[in-house]
Amino acid sequence: MPELPEVETIKNTLLPHLKNLTITNIEVLYKNTIIGESDVFKKELTNEKIVDITRIGKFLIFHLTNEKIIISHLRMEGKFYILKKGEITKYAKVIFSLSDGNVLIYDDLRCFGLLKLSYKNCYKDDELLKNIANEPKDINVDLLFEKSKNSNECIKTFLLDQKNVAGLGNIYVDETLFKSNINPKTKAKYISYNELNRLIKNADEILNKAINLGGSTIKSYHPSKGVDGRFQNLLQIYDKKNQKCPNCQRNIRKIKVNGRGSSFCPNCQPYKNDSYNIAIYGEVGVGKSTILNLFKEYGCLTFNADEIVKTLYEDKKIINEVNKIFDSDDDYINKAKIKEKILSNPLYVNKLNRLIHPKVKQECLKIIKKSTKENKVFEIPLLYTAKMEDIFDIIILVKSNKQKEYLQKRNPDNYQFLLSINKNNIIKEDDADFIIENNGNINKLKQNVITIINKLKDRLN
Ligand SMILES: [Zn+2]
Repeated sequence: MPELPEVETIKNTLLPHLKNLTITNIEVLYKNTIIGESDVFKKELTNEKIVDITRIGKFLIFHLTNEKIIISHLRMEGKFYILKKGEITKYAKVIFSLSDGNVLIYDDLRCFGLLKLSYKNCYKDDELLKNIANEPKDINVDLLFEKSKNSNECIKTFLLDQKNVAGLGNIYVDETLFKSNINPKTKAKYISYNELNRLIKNADEILNKAINLGGSTIKSYHPSKGVDGRFQNLLQIYDKKNQKCPNCQRNIRKIKVNGRGSSFCPNCQPYKNDSYNIAIYGEVGVGKSTILNLFKEYGCLTFNADEIVKTLYEDKKIINEVNKIFDSDDDYINKAKIKEKILSNPLYVNKLNRLIHPKVKQECLKIIKKSTKENKVFEIPLLYTAKMEDIFDIIILVKSNKQKEYLQKRNPDNYQFLLSINKNNIIKEDDADFIIENNGNINKLKQNVITIINKLKDRLN
């Protein structure tokens, strides 16, 4: 999807090629591209001269003689090509013949783009354009703050809404939020006036830089190739999951915000909320459950992946699926049998995980979706192995130098088995928001937990 800088570049590229040319004929190959009657579109625009091209948000506005206007939006895949007469593109939808013998082709693979006839005295009130807010450079931050401080939406969703700010798409919102040290998921109402002011200033700067870059790449542009510059070299954070943050070298995370993939640095862009979904993970026998219980003691709601699995194992359908993996005809989960099989062939663990992990994730999501004022803390031993890291706001890694000692004491018979299963556990120290080192001192653990809870609370202040 072209973003504002690309549309601006397209505008600047097309204008010198089209200015003062007359449309001598219009051929509509796909009627749905035209909003309104395509016959009227053809009749009204044929023999008019193109005098200017402007832009409102991501809409291109073609100005023609006799006060006529074409409103155009490229949506996902729309492109304009200028070709020699007789030439055509693969997904041509509308062909404008021009007085210099060339043709302007509107090409659209996905068919989401549009062309609409309008007139100078009313196009700004057209339903396509009338609700589009100002671009960052023209935004009145005071008025925007009146909206944002009452908005329950995530700030990213708020900024993507063209009724609030025009021209910020997925890429440049992520870049702007990164530059402003604001987490995409933080609610708009928690963004201060100063933060909003900085956000809008940064958005303007980033868009301008991208437009200038587009302007400089355009020198080698050939109109017949179409325009779809992407300004990749400008991007610091967008789509860079698991790469290092250019500021602090922490791993970049990617989450979904209102369905949109969103990249951010958890260190430079701390998430702020009145409560958090927290995951505790780490190797077997490091004291995760002890720490989970401390969080409960200090007022958090706590959940345990092992307990969730236990509940899942009471479900008839799941029992059948598990037993299928282990060639068992029991009508319950036969743990002894499973253990034996896994010991004989470790690949069984992967098969079991592939079945159970997505179900555990679903259960956790159900819990996360219920809004509460308390923090929710989940013990998820295999957080990364189960690919569950993206659903939590905060990740706590627990480590201990007494792991073997604890394990041996707790499970004298099972201890080797537990250690062998533990090899599947992916530990990403660089990714953790907090690391708790458990050296057996309960008072120190308590202090750790209180510190984390307080630090999270302070994020809103
Ligand atoms: Zn960073």
